[in-house]
Amino acid sequence: MPASVPGIHHVTCITGDVQRNVDFYVTVLGLRFIKKTVNFDVPDTYHLYFADYLGTPGTAMTFFGWPHLPWRAQGAGQVAAVSFAIPSAAIDFWLARLRENGVEAIQSTRFDTDVVTFRDPDQLRLELVGQASDERWAPWPEGPVATENAIRGFHSVTLLVNEEGPSARFLTENFGFREVGREAGRVRFQTGEGGPSAVLELVADPDAPKGEEAIGTVHHVAWRASADDHELAWREALVGAGRQVTPVINRKYFRSIYFREPGGVLFEIATDQPGFTVDEPAESLGSALQLPPQYEGRRETLKFNLPPIVVPTPAAPAAPKAMEGMKESR
Ligand code: ZN
Repeated sequence: MPASVPGIHHVTCITGDVQRNVDFYVTVLGLRFIKKTVNFDVPDTYHLYFADYLGTPGTAMTFFGWPHLPWRAQGAGQVAAVSFAIPSAAIDFWLARLRENGVEAIQSTRFDTDVVTFRDPDQLRLELVGQASDERWAPWPEGPVATENAIRGFHSVTLLVNEEGPSARFLTENFGFREVGREAGRVRFQTGEGGPSAVLELVADPDAPKGEEAIGTVHHVAWRASADDHELAWREALVGAGRQVTPVINRKYFRSIYFREPGGVLFEIATDQPGFTVDEPAESLGSALQLPPQYEGRRETLKFNLPPIVVPTPAAPAAPKAMEGMKESR
């Protein structure tokens, strides 16, 4: 087997309202809007990216803006929850922040770690997990959340499948993951060096209805390849393990292959290179519509047909003193 994938590269979901989506992820969650582009397969629809300051692999939550689709609850064969990493000391801050913004948030404990569960405006299930690492994370100095509380990219994804066996065997025997824990109907796996952004949890429910491609669902999760030859080695190994895998596709910011794990969840492997600064400098990421070369000739038509998006400039965080007061009043 090739060297295991180091962790999550990005997670891509479906929103029915791009402006509401941008407002929530930037203003409430404090992620930076780093790329406004189109879906490379459906170029008259948006692909929006929210991440840390630079779009470091492992921090990019992305959305296809597909308002024509129905809304559906997440189902079997899909990612059922996307979890972001926050410092453990930031749990109270986030509970208060979400509630102040009218977002219902529930606190629980899982694998001895605090978890805050809530939903985004499309009812997509999100979590904040109080276990973070600053190692590969570029803070957004102008962001609305103070650095000590800010989201540090992904912690994990939770897959919902009908049957545990096939997915668990695939992960451990064919995809380089290790089982590291079991708790209340869920199995935890790690890849690479483990820790935040390298965690996958599997929940099996034989009665869960099959998920559909719909607003409020995760479309796919992408895992990191450290380089092109790493990705190609994985392609060969996965084909050898009986998976149907696409050829390498150039996604401008990374090069990708796609396949389904046995439970039906769409996986991608995406290269760390070249990254999001390939077509605009770090300081102006997300400020203009970026198109891949094959659509530049259609720029004016595409721009005319896409709904305008206003990227909010959220207020700087409250002074540390004010936040202390907020904590005491809880
Ligand atoms: Zn992707």
